[in-house]
This record gives sequence, structure tokens and C-alpha cells, in this order.
Amino acid sequence: MNPPTDCRRCGVCCFSAAEQFVRVTGDDWARLGTEADRAAHFIGHRAFMRMRDGHCAALEVHRTPGGAPDFFCTLYERRPQICRDLARGSPECHGELARKHADAGGAAPRGR
Ligand code: SF4
Ligand code: SF4
Repeated sequence: MNPPTDCRRCGVCCFSAAEQFVRVTGDDWARLGTEADRAAHFIGHRAFMRMRDGHCAALEVHRTPGGAPDFFCTLYERRPQICRDLARGSPECHGELARKHADAGGAAPRGR
């Protein structure tokens, strides 16, 4: 499955039913700065981005004038490293698309 030409028309890698989906390291927490407590939380001894409505809570879904969904990361400049590493067209991107195409529940953690 080929990735779309624009991540804002996709957003697939920001969706999951898993609470422990987007790992937040110590460096990530520091980068999130004043947003850290709102955007992330600890589950056991590890921190993760908060999830809401089946996707990362930092994701907002808008609509283009034509009505297409527009997936917008509200913390793009401060996003965790795991999100930075997941480049469009990368093996991880293809993995996300293939996994969630096969499993609409999308409950698996990111394969990284
Ligand atoms: S990186 Fe891949 S899966 Fe994530 S939004 Fe972009 S095209 Fe979609
Ligand atoms: S921080 Fe941004 S890029 Fe990362 S999963 Fe959340 S919405 Fe997506």
C-alpha cells in the first residue's frame, strides 16, 4: 500500500486503540516543555502520549474546504522522537499503513 503524498490527508500513524502507543522518553518530555503534563502521562514507569477518541490527543482532525479530512498535529514542533523517525514512505510508515489496513482496530503499538 503506497503512502499518500501528504501526511495531512492520512494521519494513520497517529491512530490506535492502544494506550501505550506513542512512547515519550525523557528527552521527549523535556521537548514538550509546558505541554508535557497536558499531552503525556505515565503508565507504570513509562510515559506515553495521551490517547483520545482512538488517536493521539495531540491530533486534531479538521476539514478542508472540499470536505476532506485534514489531520493536524498540534505539537508538531515538539512531537516525540518516535514521531520524527516515522517519515512518510519509510518502512515504519508502510508498516503502519499495512497493519491498520489489515486490522481496522489498530490496537497494536507502533512497530518501533
Ligand atoms: S507517515 Fe505514513 S502513515 Fe503516517 S501520516 Fe504520513 S503517510 Fe500516513
Ligand atoms: S505527537 Fe503528533 S505526530 Fe505524534 S502521534 Fe501525536 S499527533 Fe501524531
